[in-house]
Amino acid sequence: MSPLVHRCTRYLLLAVIAAAPSLVSAQGVGAWAIHDTLRPQPPIVDPGTAAVGALAQRPPSDAVILFDGADLSEWRSGSGGPAGWRVQDGHVQVVGGSGEIVSARAFGDVQLHIEWATPSPARGSGQARGNSGVFLMGRYEVQVLDSYQNRTYPDGQAAAIYGQYPPLVNASRPPGEWQTYDIVFRRPRFDANGALVSPARMTVFHNGVLVQDDVELTGPSGHQSRPPYERHADRLPIRLQDHGDPVRFRYIWVRELPER
Ligand code: MG
Repeated sequence: MSPLVHRCTRYLLLAVIAAAPSLVSAQGVGAWAIHDTLRPQPPIVDPGTAAVGALAQRPPSDAVILFDGADLSEWRSGSGGPAGWRVQDGHVQVVGGSGEIVSARAFGDVQLHIEWATPSPARGSGQARGNSGVFLMGRYEVQVLDSYQNRTYPDGQAAAIYGQYPPLVNASRPPGEWQTYDIVFRRPRFDANGALVSPARMTVFHNGVLVQDDVELTGPSGHQSRPPYERHADRLPIRLQDHGDPVRFRYIWVRELPER
């Protein structure tokens, strides 16, 4: 190769990389197919007892408490009726087949704290083991799953932005133990014609460990699809998924965030 051709090739390569930052970022969706089982498995990290994401019986003073371990009045069924999940012993448990529950209030940009535990002893494998989900604005899912010694496709394990971003590491605790998500969510912005101005973004700590680093969502969460954005309201309820498994939740609070 002549020096000139070599230099041109190099500049072309640099231009391609500059034009496609998602291909080189640590968490880019890049060329990965949805639910790609060849995507690298996130390294396992023992979360220890990190201070961020600590179990939070007493939330910040400006938080809206959505669940305190006893009172489910901030939640409804997906159709607007009473929430069908069971409150007992300081937590609320998914009643398989009763359907999702949604927050009575609607939110846009938030900091969300939520605690959850998967069933013990564990039953099932892959996606059929302690599956639920936290859907910001009812659309954008942070996956809840028993990912302790339970392999599945990386973009569907615990703390994944489902179908888009595996967590940076697997900071899962064993089944039955309480775990935390601390989520910073920025909603997508649309212009007056409904065109996307800026995509949704999420930062997630799992048991105090950074697992999603300000990632840019490709659109709403989907199973075996990455649907495009569709214009929606600036505020929508938070949704918790009934995937049939008796996953438990407790201590859920949000802080509404000002515009950036
Ligand atoms: Mg799920």
